[in-house]
Amino acid sequence: MGIEVPSEFGGVELGFTAACLAIEEVAKVDPAVSALMDIHNTLLVTAFKRYGSKELQERYLPRLAADTVGSFCLSEPNSGSDAFALKTKAVQDGSDWVLDGGKSWISNSLEAGIFVVFANADPSKGHRGITAFVVDLDNKGLQIGKKEDKLGIRASSTCELVFEGCRVPKEAVLGEVGQGYKIAIELLNEGRIGIGAQMVGLAQGAFDYAMRYMVTRKQFGQSIADFQGMQFQYARARMEIEAARLLVFNAARLKESGRPFMVEAAMAKLKASEVAQDVSSQCIDWLGGVGFTREFLAEKYYRDAKIGTIYEGTSNIQLQTIGRSVRSLYSE
Ligand SMILES: Cc1cc2nc3c(=O)[nH]c(=O)nc-3n(C[C@H](O)[C@H](O)[C@H](O)COP(=O)(O)OP(=O)(O)OC[C@H]3O[C@@H](n4cnc5c(N)ncnc54)[C@H](O)[C@@H]3O)c2cc1C
Repeated sequence: MGIEVPSEFGGVELGFTAACLAIEEVAKVDPAVSALMDIHNTLLVTAFKRYGSKELQERYLPRLAADTVGSFCLSEPNSGSDAFALKTKAVQDGSDWVLDGGKSWISNSLEAGIFVVFANADPSKGHRGITAFVVDLDNKGLQIGKKEDKLGIRASSTCELVFEGCRVPKEAVLGEVGQGYKIAIELLNEGRIGIGAQMVGLAQGAFDYAMRYMVTRKQFGQSIADFQGMQFQYARARMEIEAARLLVFNAARLKESGRPFMVEAAMAKLKASEVAQDVSSQCIDWLGGVGFTREFLAEKYYRDAKIGTIYEGTSNIQLQTIGRSVRSLYSE
């Protein structure tokens, strides 16, 4: 959980690509656990590493590396894709800030001890009032609300959060007051590469699972994996997984070398989530009737894949990012 945490704070001090590899490996087995570690590593750890004061880093990074899960709290009932229309308020009171409002869809929230919460400290400035605050689980102004009953990644908790008179000291501001929208955009651009890695791992896990079944299942006196009609299907699926994986690696490589990566991250997430859906759907077909039952894992991968086109920016939002960038390259 402390993949990118510096060793002085108890982490293993590896890079972003290493985090993506770990996310992919875990997703092969359970995409829900992978979601938990993805959000923790790519959003929370990065938030403290990049924007945290020395004091915040010393206080939180050792915990994030050792024993405490983190949550990233941006979405609200009326602000999802339009994230910066958020209504949670932060009002200054002496040297404290007091947060009031509600968040939706917050992953890891039943397990988390540390919450990075986006609230507007000056609604008159629109999105330029948005500020990131660090809130501890034991804050009396924070309540963990209803847990969502989801289609997939069911082992990853997703809850509503309520903030009522949630008082934090001014030192709990991550970065600068009013910088929250920039922090959220930058973190989510990177986070999308992590979701891409999760989806590649999911597709590979479903694929491996189905291949293991197909080599042992016999029809017409031979293994179903040996029918050319099946081979052509799994050859194409394998190629699609590789294409998605290379998009993820490329976006991670650009990010780690300090080059622009926003469009490549959007492509990686979009492609990987589509491949995960298509491959996990095919895997059910490859198992035949048993693929449709809960006794076999194929249906779980299929249900888990669906989230890839929704969180950390829906597919339309990724297309918008890619489309706007392309359009800017061509003038009339
Ligand atoms: C399981 C799960 C875990 C999550 N975890 C977190 C978390 O940890 N932290 C967090 O802050 N949030 C989290 N989210 C929230 C997630 O990021 C949002 O659900 C997502 O961004 C979409 O927002 P929305 O649900 O409000 O959908 P909406 O924004 O209402 O979108 C509905 C549809 O309209 C389309 N749409 C919207 N705007 C446009 C547009 N401009 N152009 C074209 N199409 C558009 C969308 O693509 C989508 O198809 C999670 C969600 C889920 C389901």
